[in-house]
Amino acid sequence: MDDRQALAALLFAGITKTPEDMLQQYPKRVRENGEKVTRFAPSPTGFLHIGGLFTAMVNRRVAGDGICFLRMEDTDKKREVADGVTGIIQGLHRFGIDFDEGMTGPDSEKGAYGPYLQSKRREIYQVFAKSLVEKGYAYPCFCTEEALAEQRAKQEAEKCNPGYYGRWAACRDLPLEEVKARIERGEAFVLRLRSPGRPDHKCSFKDAVKGKIEMPENEQDIVLLKQDGIPTYHFAHAVDDTLMGTTHVVRGDEWISSAPVHLQLFYVLGFKPPVYAHVSPIMKEEDGGKRKLSKRKDPEASVEYYRQEGYPAASVTEYLLTIANSNFEDWRKANPKADNRAFPFKLTNMSRSGALFDLKKLNDVSKNVISVMPAEEVYRLAADWAKEYDPELYGLLSKDAAFATAIFSIDRTPVKPRKDIGKWSDVRDYVSYFYEELWDRQRQMPEHLEEADVKAILSAYLKVYNPAHNKDEWFAAIKEMCEPLGFAREVKEYKKNPGGYKGHVGDVSSVIRIAVTGRKNTPDLYAIAQLLGEERVRQRLSECL
Ligand code: GLU
Repeated sequence: MDDRQALAALLFAGITKTPEDMLQQYPKRVRENGEKVTRFAPSPTGFLHIGGLFTAMVNRRVAGDGICFLRMEDTDKKREVADGVTGIIQGLHRFGIDFDEGMTGPDSEKGAYGPYLQSKRREIYQVFAKSLVEKGYAYPCFCTEEALAEQRAKQEAEKCNPGYYGRWAACRDLPLEEVKARIERGEAFVLRLRSPGRPDHKCSFKDAVKGKIEMPENEQDIVLLKQDGIPTYHFAHAVDDTLMGTTHVVRGDEWISSAPVHLQLFYVLGFKPPVYAHVSPIMKEEDGGKRKLSKRKDPEASVEYYRQEGYPAASVTEYLLTIANSNFEDWRKANPKADNRAFPFKLTNMSRSGALFDLKKLNDVSKNVISVMPAEEVYRLAADWAKEYDPELYGLLSKDAAFATAIFSIDRTPVKPRKDIGKWSDVRDYVSYFYEELWDRQRQMPEHLEEADVKAILSAYLKVYNPAHNKDEWFAAIKEMCEPLGFAREVKEYKKNPGGYKGHVGDVSSVIRIAVTGRKNTPDLYAIAQLLGEERVRQRLSECL
């Protein structure tokens, strides 16, 4: 046994398996048509950030009919929260993101490449760590926090690069006997990479989003296993994504600077690196500049925000697609009815610098999405939301589901549907005049009309109003009223001779509309009146009079 093997045996006494055993346990994936394998790999902090949802969505879209799995990176126990795993799974599921493999709950998973919870993969990491020690690519380091801080200060004073490398790597070549003695004394140690890199050499890779990236090679002896034997992100990434057969690593671009470390780890482990796709963060416009959406400052950074406001998950997804792929909006125009899963998503069409997130735009997109939903779906989703966030509204909507659905049916035409509702929290206002409990009964008549004329219109209408009229008869009756009251029956006539009339048919309908609904602007008034019924229409007209 040479020194390296002796060191490996000393550090990993209980480890008998080899990397080959591991690779056999996780056979290569069969990808007959070049299917992609991607993964979403969050920490179970429970908090689903809009950026996390975005990355998860991109991973899901990139995999398409291939495999997208969920791996939980729970190596940082400090950040973990109870229910973190469930929170993330359910949060993503609400946005239509489900996984083919991986974690399905805090203690459950599916798929042949597990465990998908990093804390359950300890032995696996040890196997590969041991092999690196055997190959001379890893060594134990006993430096304490204090010693490292001291070293950092010295490096600063000498204007050297900070870190643990080259001549600064004090534990790189400790004699075997010393290592043995220190371990026997119970000294704690981490396992470090013995980096073969040279900073005067370049490494490069082709990023699927950002294009060719070239950086100096890594020379840092980064930590592979922490004192408690838990791997760092870097080491776990190289081991897991190899064993799990990930073909495309789609992750936040804060990892770009670590890519040289990762490429080196793949190299020393003898693995082929995956394709990297580094996704830019979602940005927000502020004071004419752009900044990252912040978990601390921006409520809209949390996915929970969209639920509370009542944005349908479909709207959020649709909006994220518009900021994810520059050609999505054109595709949507050409395919207004298509399921967005049919959109040919491309990593190369992603923004390299960071897409701008704009709530106003989300609202517009959402209005479009809601406008093409069937009324039954609008009712169901609005009621679901109200049940949780507006119990009074929920009570009213659910008391008579058919009535509520009929409200949402008004003007829900296939050709030019109205776009009044952007989120379920808009519904209370939108439906308010259908419910006496919600309606404030305020009516503001057009200022250019005399009070006497308003009254004349209302009393005349009370006489001709007939709930049995069809829509044409109903409108004809309003037109008939105009001339005797001094209003033009056509806007055209009025325009020809504005001095000859008090106003036109539009003003007359406006008065009726405001009396019945309190609004200047509503969907089809005939349909509204039909739904309200004769008694309430008459009552509102007389009340207004
Ligand atoms: N756990 C890492 C993170 O939360 C995953 C990054 C990756 O996708 O590799 O950022």
